[in-house]
Amino acid sequence: MDQKKEIKSPVAAVSRLRIATDGEGVTTLVVFHACPLRCRWCLNPQTWKEGSTYTEMTPEQLLARVSVDDLYFQATGGGITFGGGEPALRSRFIEEFRRICPKEWKINIETAMNVPQEHVRRLIPLIDEFVIDIKDMNPEIYREYTGISNSQVIENLKFLVSEGVAGKCRIRIPLIPEFNTDSDRDSSVRELQELGFANFDRFEYIKR
Ligand code: SF4
Repeated sequence: MDQKKEIKSPVAAVSRLRIATDGEGVTTLVVFHACPLRCRWCLNPQTWKEGSTYTEMTPEQLLARVSVDDLYFQATGGGITFGGGEPALRSRFIEEFRRICPKEWKINIETAMNVPQEHVRRLIPLIDEFVIDIKDMNPEIYREYTGISNSQVIENLKFLVSEGVAGKCRIRIPLIPEFNTDSDRDSSVRELQELGFANFDRFEYIKR
Protein backbone atom coordinates (compact mmCIF):
# COMPACT_ATOMS: atom_id res chain seq x y z
CA MET A 1 0.00 0.00 0.00
CA ASP A 2 1.18 3.53 -0.75
CA GLN A 3 2.82 4.84 2.44
CA LYS A 4 2.48 8.47 1.37
CA LYS A 5 -0.77 9.93 2.59
CA GLU A 6 -2.49 11.73 -0.25
CA ILE A 7 -2.79 15.45 0.44
CA LYS A 8 -5.98 16.86 -0.97
CA SER A 9 -7.30 20.39 -0.55
CA PRO A 10 -10.53 22.10 -1.61
CA VAL A 11 -9.88 24.43 -4.56
CA ALA A 12 -12.68 26.94 -5.19
CA ALA A 13 -11.21 28.58 -8.30
CA VAL A 14 -8.15 28.82 -10.56
CA SER A 15 -7.68 32.14 -12.36
CA ARG A 16 -5.02 32.23 -15.10
CA LEU A 17 -2.95 34.88 -16.85
CA ARG A 18 -3.08 37.59 -14.21
CA ILE A 19 -0.60 40.37 -14.85
CA ALA A 20 0.83 42.57 -12.09
CA THR A 21 -2.11 41.89 -9.76
CA ASP A 22 -0.79 39.22 -7.35
CA GLY A 23 2.96 39.63 -7.69
CA GLU A 24 5.70 39.79 -10.29
CA GLY A 25 5.06 38.71 -13.89
CA VAL A 26 2.25 36.47 -15.05
CA THR A 27 0.57 34.60 -12.22
CA THR A 28 -2.16 32.07 -11.69
CA LEU A 29 -4.32 32.62 -8.62
CA VAL A 30 -5.38 29.44 -6.83
CA VAL A 31 -8.29 30.09 -4.46
CA PHE A 32 -8.76 27.64 -1.60
CA HIS A 33 -12.11 27.03 0.03
CA ALA A 34 -12.71 27.78 3.76
CA CYS A 35 -11.75 30.62 6.07
CA PRO A 36 -11.82 31.00 9.88
CA LEU A 37 -12.80 34.70 9.61
CA ARG A 38 -16.15 36.26 8.82
CA CYS A 39 -15.18 39.70 7.55
CA ARG A 40 -18.15 42.02 7.21
CA TRP A 41 -17.19 43.15 3.70
CA CYS A 42 -15.68 39.86 2.55
CA LEU A 43 -14.73 39.91 -1.13
CA ASN A 44 -14.84 36.13 -1.51
CA PRO A 45 -17.84 34.87 0.49
CA GLN A 46 -18.17 32.07 -2.05
CA THR A 47 -15.12 30.52 -0.35
CA TRP A 48 -16.96 29.89 2.93
CA LYS A 49 -20.73 30.36 2.52
CA GLU A 50 -22.89 27.30 2.88
CA GLY A 51 -23.55 25.66 -0.45
CA SER A 52 -20.42 27.06 -2.11
CA THR A 53 -18.70 24.72 -4.53
CA TYR A 54 -15.11 23.56 -4.80
CA THR A 55 -13.06 20.67 -6.13
CA GLU A 56 -10.87 18.47 -3.94
CA MET A 57 -7.46 18.33 -5.64
CA THR A 58 -4.08 16.76 -4.99
CA PRO A 59 -0.94 18.87 -5.56
CA GLU A 60 -0.23 16.71 -8.63
CA GLN A 61 -3.69 17.46 -10.07
CA LEU A 62 -3.23 21.18 -9.48
CA LEU A 63 0.21 21.09 -11.08
CA ALA A 64 -1.22 19.39 -14.16
CA ARG A 65 -3.87 22.12 -14.38
CA VAL A 66 -1.57 25.15 -13.97
CA SER A 67 1.45 23.90 -15.95
CA VAL A 68 -0.13 25.12 -19.19
CA ASP A 69 1.34 28.56 -18.28
CA ASP A 70 4.85 27.34 -17.43
CA LEU A 71 6.44 29.31 -20.29
CA TYR A 72 4.72 32.53 -19.20
CA PHE A 73 5.80 32.03 -15.59
CA GLN A 74 9.41 31.35 -16.58
CA ALA A 75 9.61 34.21 -19.09
CA THR A 76 8.18 36.84 -16.74
CA GLY A 77 9.38 35.75 -13.30
CA GLY A 78 5.82 34.86 -12.34
CA GLY A 79 4.22 31.79 -10.83
CA ILE A 80 1.46 30.81 -8.47
CA THR A 81 -0.35 32.94 -5.91
CA PHE A 82 -2.33 31.02 -3.31
CA GLY A 83 -5.39 32.90 -2.01
CA GLY A 84 -8.75 32.15 -0.48
CA GLY A 85 -10.42 31.70 1.83
CA GLU A 86 -7.37 31.13 4.01
CA PRO A 87 -4.58 29.47 2.02
CA ALA A 88 -2.15 29.31 4.97
CA LEU A 89 -4.30 26.47 6.36
CA ARG A 90 -3.17 24.45 3.31
CA SER A 91 0.54 24.50 4.20
CA ARG A 92 0.96 20.74 3.72
CA PHE A 93 -0.55 20.96 0.25
CA ILE A 94 1.63 23.98 -0.65
CA GLU A 95 4.73 22.19 0.67
CA GLU A 96 4.11 19.25 -1.64
CA PHE A 97 3.20 21.52 -4.56
CA ARG A 98 6.45 23.48 -4.10
CA ARG A 99 8.40 20.20 -4.09
CA ILE A 100 7.01 19.04 -7.43
CA CYS A 101 6.61 22.32 -9.37
CA PRO A 102 9.44 23.88 -11.44
CA LYS A 103 11.86 25.56 -9.05
CA GLU A 104 11.87 28.78 -11.10
CA TRP A 105 8.21 29.49 -10.32
CA LYS A 106 7.51 32.14 -7.71
CA ILE A 107 5.12 31.03 -5.01
CA ASN A 108 3.22 33.80 -3.23
CA ILE A 109 0.49 33.68 -0.64
CA GLU A 110 -2.29 36.14 0.20
CA THR A 111 -3.25 35.46 3.80
CA ALA A 112 -4.93 36.98 6.84
CA MET A 113 -2.37 35.00 8.92
CA ASN A 114 -4.93 33.96 11.56
CA VAL A 115 -3.76 30.34 11.58
CA PRO A 116 -1.89 28.05 13.99
CA GLN A 117 1.85 28.82 13.95
CA GLU A 118 2.82 25.36 12.69
CA HIS A 119 1.48 26.43 9.28
CA VAL A 120 3.58 29.61 9.23
CA ARG A 121 6.68 27.65 10.22
CA ARG A 122 6.10 25.22 7.34
CA LEU A 123 5.44 28.00 4.82
CA ILE A 124 8.49 30.19 5.53
CA PRO A 125 10.97 28.24 3.37
CA LEU A 126 8.40 27.76 0.57
CA ILE A 127 7.04 31.25 -0.03
CA ASP A 128 8.62 34.07 -2.07
CA GLU A 129 6.20 36.76 -0.92
CA PHE A 130 3.73 36.84 1.96
CA VAL A 131 0.93 39.35 1.29
CA ILE A 132 -0.71 39.76 4.68
CA ASP A 133 -4.04 41.51 5.13
CA ILE A 134 -3.97 42.42 8.82
CA LYS A 135 -7.43 44.12 8.76
CA ASP A 136 -6.56 46.38 11.75
CA MET A 137 -4.03 45.88 14.56
CA ASN A 138 -6.51 47.15 17.17
CA PRO A 139 -7.99 44.00 18.82
CA GLU A 140 -11.47 45.49 19.27
CA ILE A 141 -11.74 46.75 15.70
CA TYR A 142 -10.44 43.41 14.43
CA ARG A 143 -12.92 41.39 16.46
CA GLU A 144 -15.85 43.59 15.44
CA TYR A 145 -14.93 43.30 11.79
CA THR A 146 -13.96 39.60 11.60
CA GLY A 147 -15.78 38.00 14.54
CA ILE A 148 -12.59 36.60 16.12
CA SER A 149 -9.45 37.66 18.00
CA ASN A 150 -6.24 38.84 16.27
CA SER A 151 -3.90 37.52 18.98
CA GLN A 152 -2.78 34.63 16.73
CA VAL A 153 -2.11 37.10 13.88
CA ILE A 154 0.15 39.18 16.11
CA GLU A 155 2.00 36.09 17.36
CA ASN A 156 2.55 35.02 13.76
CA LEU A 157 3.78 38.47 12.71
CA LYS A 158 6.32 38.42 15.56
CA PHE A 159 7.35 34.92 14.51
CA LEU A 160 7.97 36.04 10.90
CA VAL A 161 10.23 38.83 12.19
CA SER A 162 12.08 36.48 14.54
CA GLU A 163 12.68 34.10 11.62
CA GLY A 164 14.24 36.94 9.60
CA VAL A 165 11.64 37.05 6.83
CA ALA A 166 9.99 40.46 7.41
CA GLY A 167 11.57 41.53 4.10
CA LYS A 168 9.46 38.92 2.27
CA CYS A 169 6.24 40.39 3.69
CA ARG A 170 3.95 43.02 2.22
CA ILE A 171 1.42 44.11 4.81
CA ARG A 172 -1.95 45.23 3.51
CA ILE A 173 -3.67 47.81 5.69
CA PRO A 174 -7.25 48.49 4.67
CA LEU A 175 -9.49 51.41 5.39
CA ILE A 176 -12.63 49.54 6.42
CA PRO A 177 -15.86 51.53 5.98
CA GLU A 178 -17.74 51.85 9.29
CA PHE A 179 -15.02 49.98 11.22
CA ASN A 180 -11.77 52.00 11.22
CA THR A 181 -10.40 55.42 10.30
CA ASP A 182 -7.23 56.88 8.75
CA SER A 183 -5.89 57.46 12.21
CA ASP A 184 -6.52 53.79 13.15
CA ARG A 185 -4.55 52.83 10.06
CA ASP A 186 -1.69 55.13 11.08
CA SER A 187 -1.66 53.40 14.48
CA SER A 188 -1.50 50.00 12.77
CA VAL A 189 1.43 51.14 10.62
CA ARG A 190 3.33 52.43 13.67
CA GLU A 191 2.77 49.18 15.55
CA LEU A 192 3.91 47.13 12.57
CA GLN A 193 7.00 49.31 12.10
CA GLU A 194 7.87 48.74 15.74
CA LEU A 195 7.57 45.00 15.14
CA GLY A 196 10.03 45.27 12.22
CA PHE A 197 7.95 45.51 9.03
CA ALA A 198 8.62 48.15 6.35
CA ASN A 199 6.59 47.23 3.26
CA PHE A 200 2.98 48.46 3.46
CA ASP A 201 0.12 48.61 1.02
CA ARG A 202 -2.73 50.92 2.05
CA PHE A 203 -6.03 50.41 0.32
CA GLU A 204 -9.76 50.71 0.87
CA TYR A 205 -12.37 47.96 1.09
CA ILE A 206 -15.48 48.28 -1.00
CA LYS A 207 -18.71 47.69 0.96
CA ARG A 208 -20.72 44.80 -0.42
S1 SF4 B 1 -10.14 36.65 5.45
FE1 SF4 B 1 -10.68 37.02 3.30
S2 SF4 B 1 -11.92 35.24 2.65
FE2 SF4 B 1 -11.82 35.23 4.90
S3 SF4 B 1 -13.73 36.26 5.53
FE3 SF4 B 1 -12.05 37.81 5.48
S4 SF4 B 1 -12.13 38.72 3.41
FE4 SF4 B 1 -13.35 36.80 3.38
